[in-house]
Amino acid sequence: MSPMFVPGPVDVAPETLAKQTQPMLPHRSKEFEATFQRCEARLRQVFYTQYRVFIMTNSGSGAQEASIRNLVKERVLCCVNGSFSDRWYKVALANGKQADKIEVPMGQAILPSMVEEAFKKQHYDTFVIVHNETSTGVENPVKEIAALIHKMSPDTLICVDAVSSLGGAKIEMDAWGLDVLFTSSQKAFALPPGLAFCAVSDRAMTRAAEVPNRGWYFDFVLLEKHRTKDSTPMTPAMSLIFALDFQLDRILAEGLEKRFARHAAMAKRSQEWAGKMGWPLLAPEGCRSHTLTVVCNPPEFDCSAFNKFVASRNIRLANGYGDLKGKTFRIAHMGEIQPDDLEDLLAAIEEFMRQPK
Ligand SMILES: *Cc1c(COP(=O)(O)O)cnc(C)c1O
Repeated sequence: MSPMFVPGPVDVAPETLAKQTQPMLPHRSKEFEATFQRCEARLRQVFYTQYRVFIMTNSGSGAQEASIRNLVKERVLCCVNGSFSDRWYKVALANGKQADKIEVPMGQAILPSMVEEAFKKQHYDTFVIVHNETSTGVENPVKEIAALIHKMSPDTLICVDAVSSLGGAKIEMDAWGLDVLFTSSQKAFALPPGLAFCAVSDRAMTRAAEVPNRGWYFDFVLLEKHRTKDSTPMTPAMSLIFALDFQLDRILAEGLEKRFARHAAMAKRSQEWAGKMGWPLLAPEGCRSHTLTVVCNPPEFDCSAFNKFVASRNIRLANGYGDLKGKTFRIAHMGEIQPDDLEDLLAAIEEFMRQPK
């Protein structure tokens, strides 16, 4: 496998990739329904939930849109601390919803005190936050913030985008009291792009039934009607679901705790290595991602030149996102990436830096 240290689409194990070539089935067949049911049951384990997990034929951004369309009645509060959380705010506005935001500069985390201030001024029926900001490598303290909202505003529904962390970091939907929690297939789950997994609590389902204009494709009420029959309203991305069925076995065979520990160890190693290089990390201590490390590099490190340098070894590193391009680079250590792959990458960066320029 050629290690791609980019935060999606990530490398997919060849065995998993191969499962997509299985022959198609009618989607309303007993055989496919059994596969679908098996997938959902194991997704509930990965999400730490007793509720439902919708398997959606769309990428993660579709789940951002679904949560807005289904849950926002009057007004939503969006937390913005990077490009993907900013997208969610724009999604809310694009759907004609009243949306306010708490915004902090890229590289910083959303703090419980900021959320507390916002709720003192205004009631919000829905609250949305990104767990792991993929543009900055910041992990927001979602557990603490959720606990605070439960105390201050118990009827507020809490939606969490964990697109670049779920499956690589432990997020306990029910224990933390989250109402919507989702990810895409192409990040820490290490599947090809094209699916989103979206867990929804019972009280979020009750809310959805009261919200008008939910549309059709992303309607939780319609999705639920079919989910209870182990199916979907529309034709599902069957080949991807065959791959999911197999990949969930691999994930659970590794063991969830072991998988989270592997990701945490690679995060720690990347952070310590950057310290040794004298390159600061963008995220402050205490809110650093478990699945990707964002490093502030000196001008003499050019990410595209590095990728050319290692092209024959099939290694690929991710440049900074948006305004951070050229100023930072991102080491995504998620999915199939193993500690030994990471060592190869770090050694290659050091070798590149020793090259006469
Ligand atoms: C990648 C990403 C998205 C967008 O997901 P798509 O699957 O590309 O639509 C949203 N949020 C976060 C945090 C991401 O990392």
